[in-house]
Amino acid sequence: MSNSIGIHAGVFVGEWNPSNTDLACRLAREAGFDTIEIPAFAAARLDVDATKSALERNGLTATCSLGLPFDANIASEDRASIERGMAYLTDAIAFAGAVGSRYVGGIIYGAFGRHIRPITAAERRSSIEAMRELASSANTAGVTLGLEIVNRYESNLLNTVSDGLAYIEDVGMDEVVLHLDTYHMNIEEDNPAEAVRLAGSRLGYLHVGASNRGGLAGGSFDLASIAEPLKAINYDGTITFESFSSVVLDPNLSNTLAIWRNTWDNSFEIASQARQTISDVFGA
Ligand code: MN
Repeated sequence: MSNSIGIHAGVFVGEWNPSNTDLACRLAREAGFDTIEIPAFAAARLDVDATKSALERNGLTATCSLGLPFDANIASEDRASIERGMAYLTDAIAFAGAVGSRYVGGIIYGAFGRHIRPITAAERRSSIEAMRELASSANTAGVTLGLEIVNRYESNLLNTVSDGLAYIEDVGMDEVVLHLDTYHMNIEEDNPAEAVRLAGSRLGYLHVGASNRGGLAGGSFDLASIAEPLKAINYDGTITFESFSSVVLDPNLSNTLAIWRNTWDNSFEIASQARQTISDVFGA
């Protein structure tokens, strides 16, 4: 397989700032990765020059990911919140374009976190309308938008591949792709291998992570079960290792993701092991 292999910066650093971007990139490179996934929350405050030079110095490409705050939510009936959400995403697309990242994914279609009721039809509609507009401006910037399908505690809009396909159908634009994650599929899909097949050519980005968000070799998810389906759909996109431990702490992200304990202690060790597992399981 000719996939680019990535690692989420959160394995190495709590937040993306000029004092640690170079360190994160160097460790990613030394552990054998091609790509670093930058947490692009509130992207207007991120440092474009420091990011670009760290990427160049370490020979890495970048992708960007984020989740929308509850007060900047495009899946809303509150016009002001929708507009803040669109501005938030526009900043992330601009940052991605400026640092040479061709991808912005995550919970970009609605608020990221625990919801206390189901999505309404009107909220879903406003998300789709906003996404249509964003996808066309992202396209102009050479950026693809990815809808990360996540578990019920992080979104009330897209929890399964079926949800994602129906949403893309309603958006009606090829610039929007599915972003799957083994950690989330393990919770929500009847059969993750079937879910990958169902995603088919719509799959544009993949997170591999353990069922407990720790090291890739641990947990109960059978990573090998999706190797064949990925081949069958000719998946040639990025495969990114995502893992979180309270050793590396971003207080906001950790709280939303419910990272309450150390799943590992040594970032570099867990990164190197994951790189080996990806190679063993996917031949990539
Ligand atoms: Mn993920």
